[in-house]
Amino acid sequence: MSNVTACPLDCYDACEITFDNGIIKGLKSGHTNGFLCSHLNHYEKYPTIQTPRYKGVEITIDEALKKLKEMIDSSKNEEVLYYRGSGNFALMQEVTEHFFSSYGATLTDGSLCDGAGEEGIIRGRGSNKNMPLHEVAKSDVVIFWGRNPHVTSSHILPLIKNKTIIVIDPIKTKIAKVADLHIQLKPHTDIFLAMLLSRFLHIESGCDEEFLDKFASEYEGYYELTQNLRIKATLEQIDVSLGQLGDVLRLVKDKKVAIVCGVGIQKYSDGADIMRAIDAFAVMLGLFGKEGCGVSYLGSSREGIEMPFKKSGKKVSKVNTEFSLFKTVFIQGSNPLSQMPDSLRVRDSISKSQNVVYFGLYENETSEIADLIIPAKSFLYKDDIRTSYSHNRISFMPKVANSDVGISEYELAAYLCKEYDLPIESEEFYINHFKNFTIKKIDGFLYVDKREEIPYKSGFDTEDREFAFLDEIDSKVDEEDGMYLITCKSQNSLNSQFNREESVYLHSSLGFSEKEVLCISSKSGSVELKVKHNDDLRTDCVLIYSGTKGVNNLTSSKHALSTKSAIFQENKVEIRR
Ligand code: SF4
Repeated sequence: MSNVTACPLDCYDACEITFDNGIIKGLKSGHTNGFLCSHLNHYEKYPTIQTPRYKGVEITIDEALKKLKEMIDSSKNEEVLYYRGSGNFALMQEVTEHFFSSYGATLTDGSLCDGAGEEGIIRGRGSNKNMPLHEVAKSDVVIFWGRNPHVTSSHILPLIKNKTIIVIDPIKTKIAKVADLHIQLKPHTDIFLAMLLSRFLHIESGCDEEFLDKFASEYEGYYELTQNLRIKATLEQIDVSLGQLGDVLRLVKDKKVAIVCGVGIQKYSDGADIMRAIDAFAVMLGLFGKEGCGVSYLGSSREGIEMPFKKSGKKVSKVNTEFSLFKTVFIQGSNPLSQMPDSLRVRDSISKSQNVVYFGLYENETSEIADLIIPAKSFLYKDDIRTSYSHNRISFMPKVANSDVGISEYELAAYLCKEYDLPIESEEFYINHFKNFTIKKIDGFLYVDKREEIPYKSGFDTEDREFAFLDEIDSKVDEEDGMYLITCKSQNSLNSQFNREESVYLHSSLGFSEKEVLCISSKSGSVELKVKHNDDLRTDCVLIYSGTKGVNNLTSSKHALSTKSAIFQENKVEIRR
């Protein structure tokens, strides 16, 4: 049995690990560099669900599978909803969707994460090909735009030593404290900053005109659009100075620049335009198709891989799913009662479904209300394979130990396909299928074949190979009453997995005492939380980490303007004692 596998979690880094005598360690070679984050270092200490349950009574796996079949049998095909999250990011997770799609159940689409930003990138570039980690390592300047690498992508840190660092973030993050420049702008104003940077770059004749003439010839039109912004008023509204704009332009001049973006910047109704405006700044600098240059967001982790599973069918959005319309709801690797926006609506809606099935590793709000609980097998005890959305490696995840607890996604799908006489290949067939999309490179590691090391070398993937700039914007600085709600990831939890936060973080100058219980409310609902001080925040911001119980009572289930993506951060809140 091999002892090398990979972390399955929904994370940029996709680390490779070894498992020996019950101990998980980071692989010494490659980008993992011998270290893991606390989630994996303590992975085996987090209690998992050991036994299936039906209506609170423990049953066997065989009984659980029979119950699941009874529930499916009792519903019309389209009254069965398949709702999968990204608790585990490996490719074999999708084999269950193959069954539900083949069966004619209703599936989900939309995004609780990066969807709006991806849409903006595709509208501009024609595709979403990411600047991989190893290219960021070749940059002179790294701009962390709403990305907190110490929390979400720590394996980038060894690669950026001795580089010029610029941070654009409403929070004074750890990287901001050591950066050459930190712009602590007002939340939800990134589009204006990006447009002003493009405008001043043009004014200072800093654009890469040779690149623009070839691949973005409409840039004068975009410059005109940026001229609609009143400079002084906009800078005041976004809380950025003219000097700071000048500093950014001075630091990036004639340098290889990587713009490394987080997802928080696009969790707004105009999220697609925000990301497209940041891309436009990169285009004006001529950052695409060149070594050590580009924009690193979340690429498609499936890029270059043909998925062998059936995935077609009627779909409803996972942002505002009306669970009450379904008789049987099958939830896999997800905790919608905590992680979907507008939790109070979700709880009410799901309570009207007759059968709620939870298939996952950990107890949470969703397992608490589920009728049937089927424990999943941990990644250590099953075969799988994973790719990443920030680099091009592909990692095989063979079973590295045995366990009788839980059932794998393949085993569950194979059982259901057999019961309903639906086609499914062997597990080995699927793993071998994925092998067809790999290539071994000179460093001895496997990569996804045919992914461009430096994307967009011969132009963008639009019809005319040119970047499509924004030609209008709907964005306005949010001047509604209330404080900005920030719901970024915490160091200790990954969404609602692991050690979840329990506090609301506020600047100490606001006059609330540590441990004081406050009611935070929005148009959607309210939550009571204890205060912790954090003077790295702006005084107009309320930070409640993603995964904190009740945080999504405050968030709206509206979609972004151009795509079915959640707008978790576009929710003004009020605080009262
Ligand atoms: S950094 Fe990310 S990929 Fe690496 S061990 Fe932690 S969660 Fe897993």
